[in-house]
Amino acid sequence: MKHLAEENIAEKKIGLRVDLNVPIKNGEILNDERLSAALPTIQFILERTNKLCIISHLGRPEEGKFDKNYSLDPIKKWLEDKLEVSIPLIKNFTEVPDSLSIMENIRFFKGEKSNDQELTSIISESFDVYVMDAFATAHRSSSSTYGAIIKSKKACSGLLFSKEIKNLDAALVSSKNALSVVGGSKVSTKLKVIQNLLTRSSKVLVGGGIANTFLKAAGKNIGSSLVEDDMLSVSQKLLATNKIILPTHVYVADSPEANSAQLVSVDNVAADKMILDIELSNEISSIGNIDYVLWNGPLGVFEIDLFSNGTQQLISCLEETSAKVIAGGGETIFAISKFSHKNKFHYVSTAGGAFLEYLSGHKLPSVEALRLK
Ligand code: ADP
Ligand code: MG
Repeated sequence: MKHLAEENIAEKKIGLRVDLNVPIKNGEILNDERLSAALPTIQFILERTNKLCIISHLGRPEEGKFDKNYSLDPIKKWLEDKLEVSIPLIKNFTEVPDSLSIMENIRFFKGEKSNDQELTSIISESFDVYVMDAFATAHRSSSSTYGAIIKSKKACSGLLFSKEIKNLDAALVSSKNALSVVGGSKVSTKLKVIQNLLTRSSKVLVGGGIANTFLKAAGKNIGSSLVEDDMLSVSQKLLATNKIILPTHVYVADSPEANSAQLVSVDNVAADKMILDIELSNEISSIGNIDYVLWNGPLGVFEIDLFSNGTQQLISCLEETSAKVIAGGGETIFAISKFSHKNKFHYVSTAGGAFLEYLSGHKLPSVEALRLK
């Protein structure tokens, strides 16, 4: 893969695809972590050339028309503030100036999602070098990602993209001393991840709604907990590897709206109770001599404080360990920003879907396209 640092970009006209898809409400940016993560690459390029056009998507607008609710205007203002320059927000590739600019939401352009060849040509022909730094969208074959990389004369990965790949690859290298922690709501959405991680880790600790299905597969009574009955037989097969660590104690309640929770052994879950969180003090000892920890998926309904115990215990433990910790996933990133006070994780990916695809061992279109360059 060609990296930005290896490419001669002095005075060149650069198209930079970043992921500036942040939550915005009434024109106000609610969380700017993704914007901060994109800044180093922008600054790196600006030190070498100011002929830079920043390109990103935002939300899921209807293609082919402008929608104020999905305009990049608040992001343009954020960038202007950080970079202390004014940045024109342009609406078309014919308008790209020989100076710094930002393109309106690329999803306003017809054909972006389907990797339309006409749009792809327009994007790629507008620049001397195309820099791909949107790792969080690397799993989608759209015009401004995969398509533009393939068609551009020159394309390379940006600093963030390279950092993501480097950290995920390091954690995925088979190592006897790797622990994976997988939580979240459903086995079905994480099955490929668990299967791939089982081949690369010594143990996989499961929590969240996923643990319920595994507990049932192991013959436990899980009351009225969230469960996927069609995943029971595959869960049994995964349990037979003897590499899956199940919680021994859980927090149960009548429903997620309950005012109190009870801590019980997994052998004592009453028929009318739901498992909504886990207790990790027994399992945490297994993190002792580990070199790498890969974590995806909250271990309980962490959005509700009452059921955030397991997720908080894990975060505190991961902040104390000497192991290298790599974490990612949409809700996981949110849980870390909510509960981690120390910022001591080795690496937190900016990606949700792309992180899961990469962890599943799937090839990501944009990563493969960059490898051809
Ligand atoms: P990520 O986006 O990090 O990959 P997921 O989307 O797979 O994570 O799952 C996150 C969701 O799982 C959270 O919204 C959380 O409330 C839910 N969840 C966790 N534990 C349980 C549980 N025991 N029962 C129901 N939902 C759960
Ligand atoms: Mg999610």
